[in-house]
Amino acid sequence: MPRNRPTVPYRLSKSRFTSGLQCHKKLWWEVHEPDALELQPDKVLQDLFDQGRQVGEAARTRYPGGVLIDLPHNARAERLAATQAALDAGAPAVFEATFIADNTFVAIDVLEKQGDGYHLTEVKSSTSQKDEHISDVAIQARVAAACGVNITAAAVLHLNKGFRNPDTGDLFARTDVTAPVAAFLPQVPDEIARQREMLAGPLPDVPIGLHCFEPRECPFMDRCWPGTPDHIRHLAGVGPKRTAAYLARGITSIGDLPAKEKLNFTQRRQLKAMAENRIIVEPTLRGELEPLIVPGRLGFLDFETIARAIPVWPGMAPWQQAAAQFSYHERQPDGSYTHAAFLAEGPQDARPLLAAAMVRATANAERVVMYTPFEKTRIRELQRAVPELAAELAALEAKLIDLHPVVKNCVYHPDFRGSFSLKYILTPLVPELTYSDLVIVDGRVASVEIARLLFVADKIPRQERDRVRQDLLNYCERDTWAMVKLVERLRELATA
Ligand code: SF4
Repeated sequence: MPRNRPTVPYRLSKSRFTSGLQCHKKLWWEVHEPDALELQPDKVLQDLFDQGRQVGEAARTRYPGGVLIDLPHNARAERLAATQAALDAGAPAVFEATFIADNTFVAIDVLEKQGDGYHLTEVKSSTSQKDEHISDVAIQARVAAACGVNITAAAVLHLNKGFRNPDTGDLFARTDVTAPVAAFLPQVPDEIARQREMLAGPLPDVPIGLHCFEPRECPFMDRCWPGTPDHIRHLAGVGPKRTAAYLARGITSIGDLPAKEKLNFTQRRQLKAMAENRIIVEPTLRGELEPLIVPGRLGFLDFETIARAIPVWPGMAPWQQAAAQFSYHERQPDGSYTHAAFLAEGPQDARPLLAAAMVRATANAERVVMYTPFEKTRIRELQRAVPELAAELAALEAKLIDLHPVVKNCVYHPDFRGSFSLKYILTPLVPELTYSDLVIVDGRVASVEIARLLFVADKIPRQERDRVRQDLLNYCERDTWAMVKLVERLRELATA
């Protein structure tokens, strides 16, 4: 429930301002319902914050003599005073320099003294400067300028795609944004006024649209978007932009599509399956499954990966994914299954050990099934990262069969809801297979949990470490077993 309205006007901040630029309704909920379930950071979001903090700390090492305003964000008066003291003392750079104007609070990542003025730098953990960074910098420049700080240039310091661990190239790249920020600045005071007025009133009425996805997906989607399975956003292959375009044409459900609408085969199959409320299986499924009919051993492979903002293993770029875990099931000629698994331990480069274990496990397989090209990409990366096993890894790559296009080309169940991701298709196709007994059920959570185990293990109690390790092993094993069951089901469907 919304809290009682305060008697003082609502305060804005850099993050509130940029949130309000995305959607006033979103900002209203964030301010009036700060304890909303949707706003509690999950493990994945918390990890993103942690990565951002590490990048911020690394950026500060570029400014020798810089002074950090190292005080809690709610100690506003102390922060303002400390910032002023650092500026008065002529600090070459002030980190988290704090200003308040128009009842708006900002803490600037780096405020660097340059001649008679200051350069404002926003540090980002992304690998490029993005459009949304402009308003982010502009609100800071506006507030600082209103406090009498002469901002003469603005930049975004982001991670450099070309950097390679440990020290090839510069970890950061700088993009000057002085001109676009100056062009945006005239809009800032009016938008601040609009947001503060809006916050003092009732929940605003904002229609859903592309802004719900950009610049990042809104946490309140379930409140605003209808959960109906025939909503137009569930049309196969339709992303945010085309969904918004349909909504703009007044097409809100799949049933609203005009008969003459140009649709691809997959979408037509979806419409038919929905209209007849039954699974559709193309006669071509039998042929597409033929590569899986092997007299010898058939493997099923799945990876889990880590991706760190500041790359951790040799040759890796910022945010590059690296395999750190695999699960492998293999059907033996007698019809039984064996299982092999690997999960990295410790912060050192896990790829050589992982590659060796995987090459051993898959050596006798005739073909190896995976879902989407994700595993193929990781195996190609491993060929570069572990050159001594490049030939064996290339041989494994040649055995791969991707099941994703097979399902996409041949099967549609109304409960797919327009998606062919493994998690979406499994329950409709293999209802007896469940993840409900598992603690980890999501690849993104698995990724941050692996990274936690590898790089901050000393901060996790031994018991918890063992438990998370087992949770990860269970999750990855279930993914490959799911593929085993999926192939069995597809075979049944092909012969039915
Ligand atoms: S889902 Fe869309 S309309 Fe609703 S609050 Fe979020 S951005 Fe605004």
